[in-house]
Amino acid sequence: MEKERKLIVAGNWKMNKTVAEALDLVKGLKLELNNLKDIDVVVCPPFTALSEVSKEVIDGDIRLGCQNMSEHSGGAYTGEISAIMLKEFLVRYVILGHSERRQYQEESDELINTKTKAALAASLKPIVCVGETLEQREADETEAIIGKQVRGCLAGLENSQMEEVILAYEPVWAIGTGKTATAEQAQAVHAFIRSVLVELFDEATAKRVRIQYGGSVKPNNARELLGQPDIDGALVGGAALEVRSFSDIVKNCLDD
Ligand code: PEP
Repeated sequence: MEKERKLIVAGNWKMNKTVAEALDLVKGLKLELNNLKDIDVVVCPPFTALSEVSKEVIDGDIRLGCQNMSEHSGGAYTGEISAIMLKEFLVRYVILGHSERRQYQEESDELINTKTKAALAASLKPIVCVGETLEQREADETEAIIGKQVRGCLAGLENSQMEEVILAYEPVWAIGTGKTATAEQAQAVHAFIRSVLVELFDEATAKRVRIQYGGSVKPNNARELLGQPDIDGALVGGAALEVRSFSDIVKNCLDD
């Protein structure tokens, strides 16, 4: 698949997998996925499995990410985990502002913006998630909502910082529901996001930023979605929990 930007496929394991299960999964992925020159493949296990998974991926092509981090660098924040602690396990990517965190932890665009800056300051690559609910889509508010989230989450970043950020467009109604946005629906929102990036930064920066699609990506729909001009990868939930489905998604995006 010829693409303008290097594809990035990330698996968000959410609150799944004990350490033993995580090791089984990553070992299986290592057997299936190697020589990954044209694509960045990232796994984001729960915090408790980072240490062991890190040892497995250290010498391979799979990169390590995590699902959240604190906006603070350290101190009296019970239960939180800082960027520097994550870097001990060679974590390179951090998912920020996932819709489940926006919903259950009430994370705001402002907080996600602070976390994004903290991640960049620690040389972690943020995967910043945005997405509209079904009600918002049906009320024709998709662009207004996505525009607000993108502007809020990326406020105050320099152009050079923005190039390190990955955006993930994840329509809330498509996450874990089996309902995928059509390739046309997703492409339209991705193109809109890129137009907001031109406004906020500049044309050259906007062209370099990778925008993933997330929401019930499976082996049978990944290729069509990632074939769209502004879709540069996938953020995968359910299908990232099994070796077969996640490695098939990656392979289906690469094979010609
Ligand atoms: C996600 O949680 O980021 C996600 C896209 O989940 P799923 O693939 O299960 O819809």
